[in-house]
Amino acid sequence: MPTPPRVLTVAGSDSGGGAGVQADLKTMLALGTHGMSVLTAVTAQNSLGVQGAWELPAEAVRAQYRSVVDDIGTQAVKTGMLSSAVLVETVAELLAETPVPVVVDPVGVSKHGDALLAADALDAVRGRLLPLATVATPNLDEVAQLTGVRVREEADLRRAAEAVLAYGPRWALIKGGHLPPSAGPSGSGGGEAVDLLTDGTEEHWLRAPRHDNRHTHGTGCTLAAAVAAGLAHGRAVPQAVAAAKEYVTGAIAAGFPLGAGIGPVGHGW
Ligand code: PLP
Repeated sequence: MPTPPRVLTVAGSDSGGGAGVQADLKTMLALGTHGMSVLTAVTAQNSLGVQGAWELPAEAVRAQYRSVVDDIGTQAVKTGMLSSAVLVETVAELLAETPVPVVVDPVGVSKHGDALLAADALDAVRGRLLPLATVATPNLDEVAQLTGVRVREEADLRRAAEAVLAYGPRWALIKGGHLPPSAGPSGSGGGEAVDLLTDGTEEHWLRAPRHDNRHTHGTGCTLAAAVAAGLAHGRAVPQAVAAAKEYVTGAIAAGFPLGAGIGPVGHGW
């Protein structure tokens, strides 16, 4: 068997298996890559929310990263939950030594409202992490947290992207999935999930039918991991993002009930 492209996720664990490192590894497998993980934090988590979170020491993050990169190597990296300013800075130092595409999912707060990043870590995300990103993938809450721009309608997405690009990522993928459903210019009626990908020059508007499914835990992790898998396959950013959007749309359609709360997106359907 030839060695598949390798992708590394630097993120937190979700004990419920729906988001975080677990979602990343499932996505990477489904997209024909070998997934590897550097754990930053362990969460006690289920369909109802995050009951506890424990950050790993910076030394443990550094050691995992070096173990992977020094022997196995990777063609792309994805970052997710980084928990604190110390870990954001540690990960930024490590990424700066690794000349491969980096997808930064600037995870702030879970769907249940649990903080996954300390408030005092935002400066480190802006100043240290975003400048290293090939693609940054904030949702609208994360855009507001990082830039102060509040997106209320589709037309605001461009302003949000400009504000994110000002921190230095090559591309910004602004996820408009939380916008109120609109009929969309195609007249699809049921509404569309609209994202904007731009590097400040090119603009790609990504539209997908909005699935009426509440089981969407892990959506953001899955999208960012899918982009990283595409980049590891050698695709250009717009092609990797378009394929990732298609994958996550399928994953949302395949989301299923689990526990008493919000179930996860589905993989490997
Ligand atoms: N738990 C971990 C470890 C995560 O990394 C994330 C998101 O990135 C979440 C939970 C939140 O997932 P969601 O907002 O899709 O419920």
